[in-house]
Amino acid sequence: MDVTPHKNQIIARIKELTAHMQKLSDDLDQPLPADLEDQAIDLEDDEVLEGIGRAHQQELRLLNDALQRIEAGTYGICQKCGDTISTARLEAVPYAMICKTCAAS
Ligand SMILES: [Zn+2]
Repeated sequence: MDVTPHKNQIIARIKELTAHMQKLSDDLDQPLPADLEDQAIDLEDDEVLEGIGRAHQQELRLLNDALQRIEAGTYGICQKCGDTISTARLEAVPYAMICKTCAAS
């Protein structure tokens, strides 16, 4: 199969996530406002931002794993049953490791 479009999609997504993470950490680095009430709001926001950051890190790991599978030539092959993962599924979930059938069972 031609993995190039998937590879490009994965790299684009990695760039997007990395840029967003950078923006998040810039936001987290902002000093706390002097006002106590504002501080509470800011700390709550920070928790939300950290949650998003963790989700991004998780996705980045999966995307990097997918890139390694591309290099190894095992990308797009279901790790459970060995079937080919459909292009539509890979477009929706570029780091998919198992096919739709195995994911559903
Ligand atoms: Zn499968």
